[in-house]
Amino acid sequence: MSETMDTCIFCRIAAGTIPSTIVHSDGEFVAFRDIDAKAPIHVLVIPRRHIDSVNALQGNDAGMIGRMVLAAKGIASAEGIADPGYRLVLNTGPDGGQSVGHLHLHLLGGRGMGWPPG
Ligand code: 5GP
Ligand code: ZN
Repeated sequence: MSETMDTCIFCRIAAGTIPSTIVHSDGEFVAFRDIDAKAPIHVLVIPRRHIDSVNALQGNDAGMIGRMVLAAKGIASAEGIADPGYRLVLNTGPDGGQSVGHLHLHLLGGRGMGWPPG
């Protein structure tokens, strides 16, 4: 799962060369609506820097991951789902259900989530 910025669809979304509905953008992260939403609110938060997955994280990525969760928290609030609640998901690898090889945090809400997940 190693791709370049030319071939990675999420790098291209971050660069603006593939259109998306962006709900948050700053120097470190971009967040956009999932093209195939699994819930009324389904946003993907990605680092602008290409990272394959959680498996590729290093110790010095700890701050970045924390800020990514805080970005998701802010988006959840802006989307009006902070109080009813929401789910944050980092699918990792084939068994984790990861289909795009650029680290992304799913923010899902607007309905009750089942447990256990599929
Ligand atoms: P994963 O399955 O890797 O955890 O999540 C990848 C997500 O990216 C999926 O929910 C899928 O619908 C979404 N996705 C894939 N391609 C695109 C795209 O081109 N645009 C947007 N907005 N979402 C995409
Ligand atoms: Zn990428």
